Amino acid sequence: MARPAQPRDLYAELVRTAPGAALARRAGLPRPAVLRRFEAGAPLLPGPALVLTLGTGLSAFRTREAGGALASVLARAGADVALELSAVPDGERLGAVVVDATGATSTADLAALGLALGPAVRRLGPSARVLLVGRTPAAGGGAAAVETAAVQQGLEGITRTVGKELRAGATANLLRLAPGAGAGDLAGPLAFLASARSAFVDGQVVEVAPGTAGDDDGGTASERPLDGAVAVVTGAARGIGRATAQVLARQGARVVAVDVPAASGDLARTANGVAGQALALDVTAADAPTRLVEHLRRVLDGPAGDRLVVVHNAGITRDRLLVNLDAARWEAVLAVNLAAPLRLTGALLDAGLLGAGARVVGVSSTSGLAGNRGQANYAASKAGVAGMVRALAPRLAEVGATANAVAPGFVETEMTARIPPVLRQLGRRTASLQQGGLPVDVAETVAWLAEPASAGVTGQVVRVCGQALVGA
Ligand code: NAD
Repeated sequence: MARPAQPRDLYAELVRTAPGAALARRAGLPRPAVLRRFEAGAPLLPGPALVLTLGTGLSAFRTREAGGALASVLARAGADVALELSAVPDGERLGAVVVDATGATSTADLAALGLALGPAVRRLGPSARVLLVGRTPAAGGGAAAVETAAVQQGLEGITRTVGKELRAGATANLLRLAPGAGAGDLAGPLAFLASARSAFVDGQVVEVAPGTAGDDDGGTASERPLDGAVAVVTGAARGIGRATAQVLARQGARVVAVDVPAASGDLARTANGVAGQALALDVTAADAPTRLVEHLRRVLDGPAGDRLVVVHNAGITRDRLLVNLDAARWEAVLAVNLAAPLRLTGALLDAGLLGAGARVVGVSSTSGLAGNRGQANYAASKAGVAGMVRALAPRLAEVGATANAVAPGFVETEMTARIPPVLRQLGRRTASLQQGGLPVDVAETVAWLAEPASAGVTGQVVRVCGQALVGA
């Protein structure tokens, strides 16, 4: 049986017509923009990137001229870079403003940053990017260190607020460099957040640790960064899982698509569509870890060959208020969403299949991070996924691998099509981007985390939620 088309956002379609737009404008109703999304061959940004530097900037990390480190990373990723607003011709809209705030140490720096950002934000074009680069606030130290930590934390407030103020599909995010991380570690994350691939990642703070991506271009140049990777995607028969299989394949990975035997028709369609393999497997089955390991041993090209990407996407909901949640609803949700990722990852580790360059990506949820009425079981499982990747990250770092999670907000899939209409509208409109995301938005973020250039990103939970109000 063919799957129904992706659920439609009829309100957004209406307010994109001329009469609908006029009506919405008069009534002060949200007018969600059409977001810029990945298109093969399209430039990184729709306009020039303005790079501003506060204080000594990245030169505190790697000695290069102020602004130079970020500017060269952006230029290598394909951006047209300006170091002053006056260098951008009048009337030309900026594709991005990137601020190197790693040198911000005093409260005066925060005001200076805000004042420098203002005129640039006025010049942003549709689907533009505001990207701040700061440092991970450190605990302890003397008065100056405490002020620096406070100021660096302050960058988060600016980022999230600007994200809420931007319109026309523009987003704001903050990258934080951990001690020892430099421009090479930043290249992949910066290129992703600047690109159309991060359309629905908004208001996020992502920490970048010293990785093994290389000091210079961080490997961002390749159009197929996942060549030589085998990617297992659970729940791949439809929705976010299917889109993830498609994007990972587009980036070069060989895909093993996993779903329950009952979904084998759709699973085969996913696998065939990406020239991958289908593995009909209920991830909660007692023998699921053994069967997955056996299958991968046959597919992987020896221990020093392909690197493994595992995306724990399979998930279910069984909603009720906590007082009405019975044992069956607790057990089913925890088994699929949390126990299975734990068991499968454990088995892959024990089998030695998570080696250098391997990637574990969990699929959490904003409901897990913020809590959501009627979803105590689901939220427990999804917060658990965040806990899993944080705990795994140091262990995987020992072998040069990473573990992260994406936390989707409202995404247009069959799962959210089941939400009652009024709540569904609220779910979409309460995001800064005033719309739900598409499965491909989550997929692009998963694929980014899987890239070699994301080696410095680990133990992170990246929300793909259009800056949903839920959970800040
Ligand atoms: P979906 O219901 O459309 O697809 C889920 C897939 O997982 C289905 O193909 C299903 O057959 C499969 N699956 C379920 N149980 C399984 C099992 N035991 N073994 C193997 N496969 C199994 O859901 P979706 O909206 O695409 O969501 C994908 C993931 O994203 C889930 O983990 C979900 O919790 C999470 N998520 C979704 C949203 C959203 O708005 N759609 C928001 C936050 C998080």
